[in-house]
Amino acid sequence: MEARSNPTQVDTRGNYAQVAVDGAGGQERTFTYRVPDGVEVGPGYLVWVPFGARTVQGMVFGITDTPEVDEIRDLERAAHEAPLLSARQIKVARWMSTYYRVGLFMAAAQMLPPGFASRLRTWVSVDAERLADAAVTADLGPREDRALKMVEEAGEMRRPALARGLGRGGSVVVDRLIRLKLLATRSEWEHQRQKPRYIRVLALAVESEEIEKVADELDEMPGIRGIERASLLRRVIDAPGTETQADLAREFGRSRVDWAKKAGLLRVDEIQVERDPLREHQFQTTMPLDPTAAQAGAIGAITSALRTTRNDDDPPRKFLLYGVTGSGKTEVYLRAAEKCMDLGRSVLILVPEIALTPQTLARFASRFPGKVALLHSGLQPGERFDQWWRIAKGDFPIVLGSRSAVFAPIKDLGLIVIDEEHEWTYKQHDPAPRYHARAVAERFCAEHGAVLVMGSATPDIESFRRTERSEVELLRLPARVGIGDFGEVGNFSGSRRTAAGQAGVRIVDMRDELRDGNAGLFSRALLKAMHESLEAGGRVILFLNRRGTAAFVQCRQCGSVRTCRRCDTSLTMHRSDMPDGIDSLVCHYCGYRVRPNKKCRTCNAEDMRPMGSGTQAVVAEVERRFPGVGVLRWDRDVARTARAHGEVLDRFLEGKSRVLVGTQMVAKGLDIPEVTLVGVISADTGLSIPDFRAGERSFQILTQVAGRVGRGPDGGSAIIQTFQPEHYAVQAAAAQDFQAFYDVEIGLRGDHADPPFTRLIRLGHSHYDPTAALDEAKRMVALLNEERVASGETGVQVIGPSPSYPFRMRGVTRWHVILKGAYPERLLDRVQLGRDWTVDVDPASVS
Ligand code: ADP
Ligand code: ZN
Repeated sequence: MEARSNPTQVDTRGNYAQVAVDGAGGQERTFTYRVPDGVEVGPGYLVWVPFGARTVQGMVFGITDTPEVDEIRDLERAAHEAPLLSARQIKVARWMSTYYRVGLFMAAAQMLPPGFASRLRTWVSVDAERLADAAVTADLGPREDRALKMVEEAGEMRRPALARGLGRGGSVVVDRLIRLKLLATRSEWEHQRQKPRYIRVLALAVESEEIEKVADELDEMPGIRGIERASLLRRVIDAPGTETQADLAREFGRSRVDWAKKAGLLRVDEIQVERDPLREHQFQTTMPLDPTAAQAGAIGAITSALRTTRNDDDPPRKFLLYGVTGSGKTEVYLRAAEKCMDLGRSVLILVPEIALTPQTLARFASRFPGKVALLHSGLQPGERFDQWWRIAKGDFPIVLGSRSAVFAPIKDLGLIVIDEEHEWTYKQHDPAPRYHARAVAERFCAEHGAVLVMGSATPDIESFRRTERSEVELLRLPARVGIGDFGEVGNFSGSRRTAAGQAGVRIVDMRDELRDGNAGLFSRALLKAMHESLEAGGRVILFLNRRGTAAFVQCRQCGSVRTCRRCDTSLTMHRSDMPDGIDSLVCHYCGYRVRPNKKCRTCNAEDMRPMGSGTQAVVAEVERRFPGVGVLRWDRDVARTARAHGEVLDRFLEGKSRVLVGTQMVAKGLDIPEVTLVGVISADTGLSIPDFRAGERSFQILTQVAGRVGRGPDGGSAIIQTFQPEHYAVQAAAAQDFQAFYDVEIGLRGDHADPPFTRLIRLGHSHYDPTAALDEAKRMVALLNEERVASGETGVQVIGPSPSYPFRMRGVTRWHVILKGAYPERLLDRVQLGRDWTVDVDPASVS
């Protein structure tokens, strides 16, 4: 890669550092510290500074030669010998702090390498000189005396250990002694520095001929043991020093390995390995595909933007790649990435959740072997650490990751791709900073002069609106790849393709089923289609937005529903394939679990029964109706880790199980040509959520799940079961017509002045005491309203307080207030929020 101007060059002129201090709050505030002689710091350095009685971490945001205040303390030292943030990252951190209303340090901390998050260890020791001063020690009580003795004996003690040793209220005593300067503090930052990793492999201890001879003799021995020993030896002869002792012990048995070592034939070697999250995957290098005309158009537009933005004063260009499901968006990303790398610049690919989109990862890794770094929360800390530093070194021209990868230390970024840009996993929900990766990506693009490509088959209403306002350029892939080649296949019920080449979708009105006496999970149409698909050798995906067996447990006598004790939500029935083998009722918010009980707690009748249905119930029903077909369940109960997700998917891809039942996961990015039927068990779950985005979310998930079918030559169809067949979101999803949906939705948003016609800030408040919770929420609303009038910010509406959903969570009562208007932050600036309040700018939901 050619050298470019270095924006991170350190400016160390001047003797004062402006430092954003950890835990100091105060949004954009920095504090000035004198830089002592011999200490070299500049913008982007992580430093240690005194703050109150403590020493804390801080990030240097600037250097000046004049102090802004009179009394100035010395900065202690740099925490790392080089800047950890670039000038560009510092600018983006500033923007985040302002926009999302979080402290500067917190914003900057998102960009620090893993393990640099502060874990401060404070030690205390006795200041002998002060202790000798009778004036200071005159008022000390017995607990203070005891504390000083304890420390004197130990010489130096960890502060929390001392406080604990003093019993209740111990930390107050320690604080007082520190204030009196009788105890001196020394803080050290605990190095969480990851160490290099070693693995143990089996190698040959003697010449291979000699071992070969032993192996031949073993073969002649009667019984299985000799043969097993021989095969272990031969295995290591074939590839000495490559397989780990653990793997071989698993395969041949621990005792065989021990025997070979004792016999002096094999030995253990330790070798250092780079922790490479891609090591378990084996990717075959793949060649670019010949782009379709639509793909070529999109690739051309992005390529010319990549070429021109470099030296322009114009802001870099942004694209929305709106391509129907199966239209080949990934190939466009791959080509754009290739072009960007040809220009010597790096690429960032954001995906909603790596574990759920293994196919996207596979496509990048196989097209660009050895060039892709992976960054996401599912990595082991060691893997994350290695990847971060190697990215910072410039080892990888492509970084692929989920939300937080947007902060990766990429030096010369030329392109950011956001796949499935409508996904709300891009918005950090908890804890702060509650940022949207799309918004942060835009800032990084602006700083680097990089091109932004956002792709989706169901774009975010707000993103699409921006194309109408010419803030973002629209690129379309209007049809499925290969539609002309596959021809028309009409041998399944309702399997005619749409004009865009997608599978036909049928809506089934479940009211008709009930009327005709079918109260089951599957409509007659769905059953028929399943039979046809499976008989013809196809595979089926059934989608349901609910885990467990039943939605809830309800008393048939009085109607009361069993709810969580800590949250205001109904508990969900889970059958005994859970790890502990017991049937249980589970709260999906806090994990609370109880044994199911027939007896109703309200009316004492013995008539509590499961109602509604979850994934488990659907699996049971498929097994009953289609014995031997092989049913797989895919939800958070069966798959919690990336590996587990991969295993479920592999089993389905192998084809031994031909029906896949799952929650949202089955809607995301699967590209399996053998799938000839998709069934949505109920489209209604999402429609009734009290949120202005309920329609949009439903449309997106229904369209995405329907988009999984009909990707192969056998075509296929989708069936949506619903009690609200006339709902515009269901109708548009069945037609797979984003434009039709958008036209209705944007009208509704306009009528109600909802985003994108306005902006929202959600203020959340929670408290253990329900009365205090409501009082504080009301007080805040009154205060906001007063300020609203007093300041003339009458363009901002104050809505609430409203109970959050769920109203009680983990025993805490939750209220929220929504600020709505073009500049809601102006009103927020005028009030002081206490610690119990959270601020969410551009919230993902308003319930
Ligand atoms: P999307 O992400 O838009 O839903 P994909 O990128 O998954 O679509 O592409 C759908 C399928 O079409 C994939 O199997 C992909 O390999 C294939 N495909 C994409 N572009 C081409 C092309 N130009 N020629 C042949 N096949 C293609
Ligand atoms: Zn709960």
